[in-house]
Amino acid sequence: MFDVDGTLTPAKQKIVKSFAKQFAEWSNDKEVYLISGGSFVRICGQITPSLLDNMTAVYACMGNAGYIRKKDESRAWIKRYEHTFEPPAGLIEALEIVARDSPHIEKKPPHWEVRSGMLNFSVVGQKASKAHRKAYASYDAEHLERETIVKKLRPMFPEIDFVIGGAVSLDIFEKGRDKSQVIREHFKDLSKDVILHFVGDRVEHPGNDYAIAQLVLEHPNGHVHSVKSWKDTAELLKSI
Ligand SMILES: [Mg+2]
Repeated sequence: MFDVDGTLTPAKQKIVKSFAKQFAEWSNDKEVYLISGGSFVRICGQITPSLLDNMTAVYACMGNAGYIRKKDESRAWIKRYEHTFEPPAGLIEALEIVARDSPHIEKKPPHWEVRSGMLNFSVVGQKASKAHRKAYASYDAEHLERETIVKKLRPMFPEIDFVIGGAVSLDIFEKGRDKSQVIREHFKDLSKDVILHFVGDRVEHPGNDYAIAQLVLEHPNGHVHSVKSWKDTAELLKSI
């Protein structure tokens, strides 16, 4: 099981060709699942079609939308399920205030986008260029603004979870509707003998891989690998 952004690709960008080739060869004799905070459309733009063909299933939007392939010759991808997200009263207003009050200057609204079963928020905004996003990522690394936002909003919305995802954003969803739902709902009958690996770049709390990593570790043959970029993943694949 692989996270996508920061694990297989640079955040929101395409997979590097040489790594796509290595990953495709490695995945030939395995069951491989992608579990991303991004939408299915975005994942399809990031992962090469031939590599995507090797994936058993793709869980998009933190596992709030699941995709499998038709069993017929077309092997076309089909959506198996999709959850929705209704922002609770006051959430959007609170996010707008957080974005407005941030001392970071470059902002390209809108700051939030509703996806399947979740909402994605960033101070820098959905319309920010790559350079703006990069500038905000360094600002956040220095000031830990996203952590401060999470600490502020959590007590205001006890039924909602806020996690740091990608390079600049927060993923927001009903408690439990994070990547861990993939394990709870689709792998609950997994045999103890199966060797299960999860690879992610945000397995530490409050990262968006933390909850799923905790459940993987509960499996007797579960292993969690923390990587800093696809380069670490490329090295790791040589030993799995
Ligand atoms: Mg990631």
